[in-house]
This record gives sequence, C-alpha cells and structure tokens, in this order.
Amino acid sequence: MSRILIVEDERKIARFLELELQHEGYEVQTAGDGRTGLDLALSWKPDLMILDLMLPELSGIEVCRRLRHESDLPIIMLTAKDDVSDKVMGLDMGADDYMTKPFAIEELLARIRVGLKKHRASQTPVSSVLTAGQLTLDPASYAVTFAGKPVSLTKKEFDLLRYLMQHKGQAVTRDALLTDVWGYDYAGDTNVVDVYIRYLRHKIDEPFGVKTIHTIRAVGYMFSYE
Ligand code: CA
Repeated sequence: MSRILIVEDERKIARFLELELQHEGYEVQTAGDGRTGLDLALSWKPDLMILDLMLPELSGIEVCRRLRHESDLPIIMLTAKDDVSDKVMGLDMGADDYMTKPFAIEELLARIRVGLKKHRASQTPVSSVLTAGQLTLDPASYAVTFAGKPVSLTKKEFDLLRYLMQHKGQAVTRDALLTDVWGYDYAGDTNVVDVYIRYLRHKIDEPFGVKTIHTIRAVGYMFSYE
C-alpha cells in the first residue's frame, strides 16, 4: 500500500484529500504546517507528498528545497495562484508536479498514479553514463561535468538534459519534452520548457563557450555536440 503525506493548512481541504485517498486505498498522514510536514516526510518515509505552497512555519517552497537535500520523494505542489513564476520556482526547488486550486479530485488522483509509477521506475537502475564531447552526465550519481568540472543542476534541469542527451541528434518537440520530462500534458504551458532550456544554456553553453542545445524552428530543440 503506497503511503501519501498531505501537507496542507486548510483543514477542510486536508480532510477531504485524506478521505478521498484513503478511499482509493492509500495509507495517509496529514500535517498542518511546513515544519511538521518536513519532519514527517523524513521520518515516516511516504511514497509521495502533496504539498501546499502557502503554509505556516515553513513555506511549501522551503519544505521542497530542504527535502531535496535528502530525498527524491515525488512531490505534487498545490497552489491557489496560477502563476508561471510560482510554478517555475516550485519545480525548480524540486517539485515533480503542480496543481492549481481548485482542482478536480480525479485529476489529482491521476497525477498521483503517474508520480508513484515514475518514482518506482526511477528506482530501477537503468543508469549508464551519457557523454557528448566534454560533457558527461551520470544518472546514478546525478552528476554532470564539463571537461571534468562539476556543473550544478536542479533535478528538473538534470532530467531535461538527460532526456535531450538520450535523444542526441534528434529534434524533440516542446510537447514531447513536457510529456516525457514533466510527466504529463502540461496543458500547453510550453514556456516552462523554454525557461528550462535557458537555464541549461546559461549553465553549460555560456560558461563553457559551446553550443549543445539547438533551437529547431517551429519544432523544438535538439541536443547536438561532439
Ligand atoms: Ca495554505
């Protein structure tokens, strides 16, 4: 039975989610503030966390940031604001998925199933080191280096780079990136992809004076570098 931790200070929403998830057969615990949520995430070791953005004690962003030092627990973030900058910040801090309140419970349940499945798949080691020229990416240790120098990437940047390197020399569409890297159809929000491509270029292409990620007009992007 999968364990799900709900961190939400609005008691009505927390209780509603708890009942729905128990009904689906999940084992559920709830926390009403960020600090308790972080403690429970580390001690109870859930399989997935639903994390509200606006929380007392510690914000959802801060919980996410601290948790990512120790755990790759899938996190679905909840927020009242439909704001791309919040969305990008949440994802950048390591959240795997994002839902804007109010949401349909069926959609959340679907995303929980996706999150759990992806997490199980990622536990299975299928990690061979990817290289392109002086760039190396090691999925086992989450390490990226350029000419031996470490490149510090967030989890989402890492996932995106890994996907692009796995499809070296192929043009990939923004929709494919959203589906395969972000894990579901992001409802046309492809500017998230563009934002993350910029981050990668800023961390790899610009400092090392190379061109690894190419824009393919009217299609998307292609990784190509020898
Ligand atoms: Ca809240």
